[in-house]
Amino acid sequence: MDHSSNNILLDQFGRPHDYLRISLTERCNLRCTYCMPEEGIVLRPRAQFMKTDEVIAIAKTFVSLGIKKIRLTGGEPLVRNDAKEVIEQLAKLPIELAISTNGVLVDQFIDTFKKAGIHSINVSLDSLQEGKTAAITRRNNFAATLSNIHLLIKENFHVKLNAVIMKGLNDDEILDFVQFTKENPVHFRFIEFMPFNGNKWDWSKGLSYKEIMDLVNTDYGAKVQKLQDKKNDTAKSYKIEGYKGTFAVISSVTNPFCDSCNRLRLTADGRMKNCLFSQSETDLLTAFRNGEDLRPLIFENVWKKKSTRGGMDTFEEFSDASLNQQNRSMIAIGG
Ligand code: SAM
Ligand code: SF4
Repeated sequence: MDHSSNNILLDQFGRPHDYLRISLTERCNLRCTYCMPEEGIVLRPRAQFMKTDEVIAIAKTFVSLGIKKIRLTGGEPLVRNDAKEVIEQLAKLPIELAISTNGVLVDQFIDTFKKAGIHSINVSLDSLQEGKTAAITRRNNFAATLSNIHLLIKENFHVKLNAVIMKGLNDDEILDFVQFTKENPVHFRFIEFMPFNGNKWDWSKGLSYKEIMDLVNTDYGAKVQKLQDKKNDTAKSYKIEGYKGTFAVISSVTNPFCDSCNRLRLTADGRMKNCLFSQSETDLLTAFRNGEDLRPLIFENVWKKKSTRGGMDTFEEFSDASLNQQNRSMIAIGG
């Protein structure tokens, strides 16, 4: 079936897709509890993953189909040996290029980011305390991550900080995170804890958008200002009057934002996913290696996108382990 319409990647619900998230690797220098299963993931031979030229060629095909923004993610994208080369090559495409990182290696990439025209950098920061960060990431990365966040701010990057909020772990720091925006011009985003294979998800460990905002509103009252969200924004944004930074909540669990979703994903092993939660994938890498035209495969994959969270429409379905554990772990999808 031909679902192509003027090279716009439309699904059957009429949503156009112009944003691609590419995972560069399943490997990571951290071991975040919410992302990576405790036992780790099985490391597979390099041949099963996209090589430099394959990342670029597949990305180019997406760009020819209307993709306007690419975010590099992983795993940790900066642990890949050819990360600089991939960034330099992708920067030549007519797209906005962005990156999500845990920040540990960022100081080695400042020039590369600048030359590539990358302005927006997302950094994971789940705690402002060293010991707690180590408990969450299972590594001692706090000092490196924090100093690199300050380096990015100093170098005038637009810095978004991502914290997955978990009960009894870092929910007592929400007001500290908001306070961090007083002097630091960052956009702090509080993410509802989402279920992926092996992350021992249980919503009783999560904090909802409402619970997070109740805490903030109780403390800051009338000083909390709602900001205008853009159409495809996954976050609901706020700021405290007079503070340099802003903050937001990403509510994939209690308040999904699927209606305006414009995102597609490419895993490090070259599989296309039309949703973070989709259980079906299209193997673009094998098709590419066989010399096939990827475009019909991409159109077909987009067309089949489910209306909400990979088909888990209700909170009950989303919470059902027999459904949500069918997916890969986050580290193998690319967050
Ligand atoms: N290593 C990079 C980093 O940490 O930002 C990029 C990859 S990471 C998988 C991308 C984002 O996914 C991070 O902000 C992380 O907090 C988020 N993430 C991972 N597992 C999650 C989960 N179970 N629920 C919500 N967000 C999650
Ligand atoms: Fe690594 Fe990022 Fe996953 Fe943490 S969230 S384990 S830093 S990929």
